[in-house]
Formats: sequence, structure tokens, C-alpha cells
Amino acid sequence: MFWRKALIVVGMILLSGRSAFADATLVTLPIDRAKFLAGQKFDMEIEVRGAKADEIKVSIDGRDAAEFFGVAPVLKNEDSLSSYRLNGVALLKPGAVKVDVEARAEGKTIRSSVNYTVAAPGQKRAKNVILFIGDGMGLASRQIARIMSKGITQGKYDGLLNMELLNDGMALVSTSGYDSLVTDSANAASAYATGHKSVVNAMGVYENSSKDPFEHPKVENIAELVRRARGMSVGLVTTSNITDATPAAMVAHTRRRAEQNYIAGEMLKADVVLGGGSWHFLPASSPGSKRKDERNLIDEFKFAGYAFAKDRAELASAKGGKILGLFNLDNMNVYLDREMLKDPEVLGGFTDQPTLPEMTQKAIDTLSMNENGFFLMVEGACIDKQLHAMDWERSAYDTIEFDKAIGVARKFAEKEGSTLIISTADHSHGISITGTYHERDGKSGREAVRTYANAIFPTFSDAGGDGYPDDPAPDVTLVVQYANHPDYYEGYKAQSKPVSPAIMSGDAAVANASRAPGGVFYLGNIPVAESSEVHAADDVPLSAAGPGADYFMGVMDNTEVFFGIVGALGLDPTQK
Ligand SMILES: [Zn+2]
Repeated sequence: MFWRKALIVVGMILLSGRSAFADATLVTLPIDRAKFLAGQKFDMEIEVRGAKADEIKVSIDGRDAAEFFGVAPVLKNEDSLSSYRLNGVALLKPGAVKVDVEARAEGKTIRSSVNYTVAAPGQKRAKNVILFIGDGMGLASRQIARIMSKGITQGKYDGLLNMELLNDGMALVSTSGYDSLVTDSANAASAYATGHKSVVNAMGVYENSSKDPFEHPKVENIAELVRRARGMSVGLVTTSNITDATPAAMVAHTRRRAEQNYIAGEMLKADVVLGGGSWHFLPASSPGSKRKDERNLIDEFKFAGYAFAKDRAELASAKGGKILGLFNLDNMNVYLDREMLKDPEVLGGFTDQPTLPEMTQKAIDTLSMNENGFFLMVEGACIDKQLHAMDWERSAYDTIEFDKAIGVARKFAEKEGSTLIISTADHSHGISITGTYHERDGKSGREAVRTYANAIFPTFSDAGGDGYPDDPAPDVTLVVQYANHPDYYEGYKAQSKPVSPAIMSGDAAVANASRAPGGVFYLGNIPVAESSEVHAADDVPLSAAGPGADYFMGVMDNTEVFFGIVGALGLDPTQK
């Protein structure tokens, strides 16, 4: 099916930027101004061009680094590049730390210093943390969902979303990685999972010069920390491939998010794993598999004690403390297709996929059996994927579904009393609500885009009262404009099927003529090699409620979300 293939391309990041320090003579990783939780494990690596590895001297606050950590350095000399590496070390004492490096390179002595901060473990205030990540869900996405789900009368909203009722903490989160202003989901989710920035397409690592995606210095992530420091359970729930960037970054360490065969195996670090993407779990000989080997990971999970569910009915009846649920070969279908339109061609045989709220409920029921508490990440993945596809209606229904999942968590937290709930996004998209569209006076296309007073109000209705508008294309609908897009046709009305806005023709993306027949042609404003709408660097909103939520205020770096989580839990990985 054409559209299916096209959307897969849309969902993947095909960027290939150069490395952040490509021209540097001396690179110290982790980078300057990195912040650690006391006891958080990491690999330290120094790379120097034109030096000998045994002539690289590293000191921590004036003491020899190897002696300081009690670890022998791994030294490498390769062509023009040498490296000094200390694996699995940790800074235990809170406060400032200075790392000095001295090396002989091409007959000269070069020196470099970086400064780190070590955060003290907090007092335990929360037993559980539920982190909701609306992938690509910027301020406009939240507001579109509010308009469509709650309604607006004479300019006043008729209600607020669950995420907007998380009122104990609120912040704007900046999302850049250390290589670039604009992030992808791997790098951004990695900041939440580790407290450290990384680079586009990377998770749980700092980028060194290695071509091997598994040779980059690692930083301990939240799944590893909560288990090591307190024996907590971990859950990952998403509507995308479970091996896709956001859930993957909670557990995995790789320079390349595309290493999804490896990432599937890393999912054994979580107790509840629910989403799409069974093709990375099935052996290569199985139809539709994307594995390069004959491993059957579903069998491996079962052997490790997981109940397995392949559809909604099996999820409902799954029992035990560990569950693997894979409800589609690829990404799960979006809410509009899965629950409302139900076009068999679009669903491709997956006619019994659970909703995100159902998956969230099952995850909470299962994880909350652990007396030590749990960390659960729930992602609304297709909010992002559908904005890449310039299908804001499909994105909006998934935002509403994501919000219903937050409602499930709010109900649990109300009764349970010691759960921190955070709702945020990993990055934004360049979308804006500029008015409405209707053809009541016979105008159509661009002339029917209504601005200012002509915009009146959209006419979404919800006769069923379930919070999802009955019709994605009402008489008066929203106009959502895109700031960063390829050549495409705009029809101003919801598409009955997912259709890519542009398709590749050689090296250039051209407008997809089968989208919005008779629609208005818009000339792209990003490089012609981009076939989808792209991420924006706009800050994203964060709302939180429960113990520890007061950490979130003002404008915060995305790495601080990690420190808000581990601080609320009072995690102390310096203790054995
Ligand atoms: Zn994206």
C-alpha cells in the first residue's frame, strides 16, 4: 500500500549532520556544564588529535582521574586520533567538579578544562512518576485539542484538558541538543531519560568519533537508575513502534536510533512494554519481520516471564507483573482511523488495537503491584507523526486520546496520593491556529480562510460526549497553518485516509497530487530534499501535579526534567 510506505518515510529522521566536534583537537566527554545526579554512572572519554594516548593526562579537582575513580583507563591510538576512556564511573559528592586535560599533540602541549555539577539526591516525596510525552506537542497542539474536545463559547473555553489541570508546576522547556538548535525525538527523550543533552539521532550516549553506534560513551538512564537505586518497576507505553526514539531513549544507549533490532532487546529493561512495532521482535524468516537475525524476541520475553498480548482482548486478560503487548507490525494506527473511520485498507488487518488510555490503565494496574514504586513513560507518538504528514486533524484526535490517558493517571494519582504526573513534549512543530475555514458563502480555497472577525468559531460537535468530535470536518473547521513544509496541496478539510504531503522524486520532494484533489498548491519553504513538515525549535509547555511538581517553573532546560523526576523520587544511587 502506497500511503503506508510513504508514512514510514515521514516518520523517520533522515538527517545526517556532521558530528558536533568534528574540527576540535581535543574533546572531553561528557561536555562542559554537564550535570549529574550523585552516583549516576557514566563513561568519560577524552579524544585528542595528533597525540599519543599515554600522553593524555586527566585530573578531577586536581587528582589523577584514574586514581580518583579507582578505574584503569582504556587507551586507544587510531590513525591520527587517540583516546583515553574511563568506563562506568560516578561522581559521588554533590557540588562543582573541574576536569583538567593536558596532552602533547604535534609537539605542542594543549590544555582544556570542563566543569560539571553534581546534584545531591533529594528527599523522597513521590513513590511513582508517570511521564507523559506528547511527541511534537507544542502549545498550538494543546490548544487545538482543547478547542476540539472542550469547545469554546463566546470566547470562553467550556473546559480544560486533563494536562491543563496538572496545576502544581508549570514550565516552558527548551529542547535543543548540544549539536543543534533543532532536536529530534531521540536526543530530546534522552535528555529526559538521563539529564544529559546529546545529538540528533542519539540516545543515552555522548557522541565520540567512532563509526560504531555502540562505542560512544554512555550515561545511565532513568530505567537503569530506578531499578538499581530502589528496585522500582518500569513501564513504556506508546502508539508508535515501541523501539522508536522516545520509548527507546528510556532504556537504550546508541548513537543511531535506527538500531531498532538492538533496541527491541533492550526493552527487557522494562516490565510493561506496550505499543506497535512487532516487526523488530519477529525472526527474520517471519512475514513482515525487520530483524536481521532469527531471534524470536516475543519468545524470549515469554521465557523471561512476560505475558504477551497481540490485541486489545489479549491485553485486557493479560495477567502477571510483566507484559509485552505489540498491537501492530508497524506504528499503531491513529485514533481517527482505529476507532472512528475503521477503513480496512488503512488498518491492514489490525482491527483490534487498544487505545492509549486502555494501555495506560493496564500499565498502571500492573506496575503499581510493586511496593517500591514505578516509573512509567506514556507517549502520544502520532501527534508528531501526523504533523510531519501535515494532517493536523489526525494529530489532534491523537492529542485528545493522549489527554484521556492523562485522565487515567490523574484518577489513579488521586486515590494513591504519592504519584508525580508530568505532561510535556519532546519538541515542537511549526504550526499555528490562524482562524477558521468554511464555504458558507460559496468561497473556497485560500479565499475561504477566515481571519479576525470573519473567523467566528469552529462548529465541532460531540453528541456522544466522549470528548472526541463526531466529525473531523465540520461546517466551520480550524485553519492550522504550517511554518515549515515541502511543496504540497492544501484542501482545508480532513483527509479520509492518511496521505503523505510530498513524495520523493529522485533527490527532490514533490507535492503529492493524490492529496487534496483541487486543493491549493503551496510552495515549500524548506530544502527540497525534505518530504515532510519538520520539527521546530520552539519551547514546549510542561505541566505537572503531585509531590515534587513544584520543581517545574519558569523556563527550564530539557535536561532539568530528569532532575525533577529523580529529585521527587529522592533516588540515591550512591547507596548500595
Ligand atoms: Zn518528529
